[in-house]
Amino acid sequence: MSSIKSVLQETRQFPPSPEFAKDAHISSEEQYQQLWNRAKDNPAGFWGELAQTELEWFKPFETAMEGQMPDTKWFLGGKINASVQCLDRHLKTWRKNKAAIIWEGEPGDTRTLTYQQLHREVCKFANVLKKLGVQTGDRVTLYMPMVPELAIAMLACSRIGATHSIIFGGFSADAIADRNNDAQAKVVVTADGGWRRGKEVPLKTNVDASLPKAPSVEKVVVVRRTGTPVDMVPDRDYWWHELMEQVDADCEPAELDSEHPLFILYTSGSTGKPKGVLHTTAGYMLGAQMTSRWVFDLKDQDTYWCTADIGWITGHSYIVYGPLSNGATSLMFEGAPNWPDEGRFWEIIEKYQVNIFYTAPTAIRAFIKWGDQWPQKYDLSSLRLLGTVGEPINPEAWMWYHRVIGGERCPIVDTWWQTETGGIMISPLPGVQSTKPGSCTRPLPGVVPAIVDDKGNPLEANQGGLLVMTQPWPHMLRTLYGDHQRFKDTYFGKLEGLYFAGDGARKDEDGCYWVMGRVDDVLNVSGHRLSTMEIESALVSHPLVAEAAVVGFPHELKGEGICCFVTPKGVTPSDQEKKELIAHVRKQIGALATPDQIRFTPSLPKTRSGKIMRRLLRDIAAGKESSGDTTTLEDYTVLAKLREED
Ligand code: ATP
Ligand code: MG
Repeated sequence: MSSIKSVLQETRQFPPSPEFAKDAHISSEEQYQQLWNRAKDNPAGFWGELAQTELEWFKPFETAMEGQMPDTKWFLGGKINASVQCLDRHLKTWRKNKAAIIWEGEPGDTRTLTYQQLHREVCKFANVLKKLGVQTGDRVTLYMPMVPELAIAMLACSRIGATHSIIFGGFSADAIADRNNDAQAKVVVTADGGWRRGKEVPLKTNVDASLPKAPSVEKVVVVRRTGTPVDMVPDRDYWWHELMEQVDADCEPAELDSEHPLFILYTSGSTGKPKGVLHTTAGYMLGAQMTSRWVFDLKDQDTYWCTADIGWITGHSYIVYGPLSNGATSLMFEGAPNWPDEGRFWEIIEKYQVNIFYTAPTAIRAFIKWGDQWPQKYDLSSLRLLGTVGEPINPEAWMWYHRVIGGERCPIVDTWWQTETGGIMISPLPGVQSTKPGSCTRPLPGVVPAIVDDKGNPLEANQGGLLVMTQPWPHMLRTLYGDHQRFKDTYFGKLEGLYFAGDGARKDEDGCYWVMGRVDDVLNVSGHRLSTMEIESALVSHPLVAEAAVVGFPHELKGEGICCFVTPKGVTPSDQEKKELIAHVRKQIGALATPDQIRFTPSLPKTRSGKIMRRLLRDIAAGKESSGDTTTLEDYTVLAKLREED
């Protein structure tokens, strides 16, 4: 393989302000270097020490790290419980009456749970699960709206050692059945419905439809959220609030092995059929806790808001386990950013005086499209730190976020990581790192990435190649549930002894990483391998463009031609404007990357977690039927419309 050619020029840099750096958890380059080098030279020593001081153990572990990738085990011999790490520890301190979760529902209803109140609810629901016959090691599926009961159910599972498997509330009955069968789940926790843009999502009805195809499920617990009548099957279906009245509020936490399975979570399905990633207790908890503190610089007085759905890994690690293990106040929101209007997120920031805000590029691109007038209506001066995750962020979208939301004062942490990595891997440390629009900058302590060719040989600075991890870390996935061979093939089958993430990236002369998109999506134009992300970024830097997805298509002369699917900010651009756009890309990144085709479309096919599904666009550009898995596609009509225009 030749390397991936980088054509994007981006040289802007934003150092942290001295005030921010002064109070940050990691506050100087020397401190970062020291931590990073120590972890690289002695991962067992580095993580072992943190596990001793930061985690609460029933019984201390004996071996910090055992074995190499892919089968590394962490903190063997120790006994631990994730709910204790998130709750019980804080009850012994002044945080007992601190808000753990501040929740706002889509209709505007609100609830606040202090650490003590959350602990009580978790213990009660843990007793409910026990009463329903759930035992340590059983799998429990949570298919719920973004209500506090979801966090309560997760922590209740972890309290008794049941493994939770959360299915995002937008999925269909078939997707629920597949995942329940894959995980062999015994109990499903759901709700009568959830709110989404003023409409009701019929969660219980979907569960009912899934059950005939998922025989492992014995019991269903239903939270009353919308009040819509639902069918309740005797001896199978139970109301949450009725069960909660019948149990007491004491529940001793199970003393679990460090490697006890904490949860199964299916990936987004951007590149194919979703994979059932398994995470275990101690290693995952340590990762979630430390990365939250380092990257979001969590302080006790902060109101922290991650806008992800808990149905994705971001919500697991950075709404629930990470913030709560740090004793932080985590804001949880049920609704959408544009309901009842496009100002909803900014209204929430003003209302709760949010200090730290973590969202996704897909949302940022939508905000840009909706216009600056929405955020400008609200007071966003409480914000001190911004974050992004999920896809590469185009530099111009980064600049907009920096300017319009961050008031040019908030550092932006562009966090690269995956369901599989459990926690953030590459990200600016906001008190140390000069940020660069479009770069996730440098690896966190304990993370040792490299850019290699397809033989595993390291590439030089600025040459694009495969992004790999050269050392194990405690919060990495342990397997794909029920398919250890697929786990080994997917992540370790390509390059001996290296974890291959599936992404392409380059590292610049300062050691900063620039993710260039999925390796599967790389274009090969006249023998040059080009990154989708870079061409998309050039398109997005034009004032007419809100969002862009670039794919290759078979081309007689060049091997692959460049096909650009473009969502304009306003009305569909004229032919003259289309020509301008082509000229703009050419000028920005060179003749080599000149688009062969530009197709305007009001929306792009995305996963339900909001990521562009380029593989489906590739089929359209090539004039083929879609071949791969489309179960995680957010909106089937987008695909149909694109085909009509074909
Ligand atoms: P599947 O594995 O099923 O194809 P997926 O990879 O989208 O789906 P996730 O685990 O949700 O599932 O996403 C991880 C991927 O998201 C990364 O591999 C990377 O491609 C992308 N990603 C996440 N954060 C960033 C970021 N900050 N910059 C660039 N890419 C990112
Ligand atoms: Mg993936």
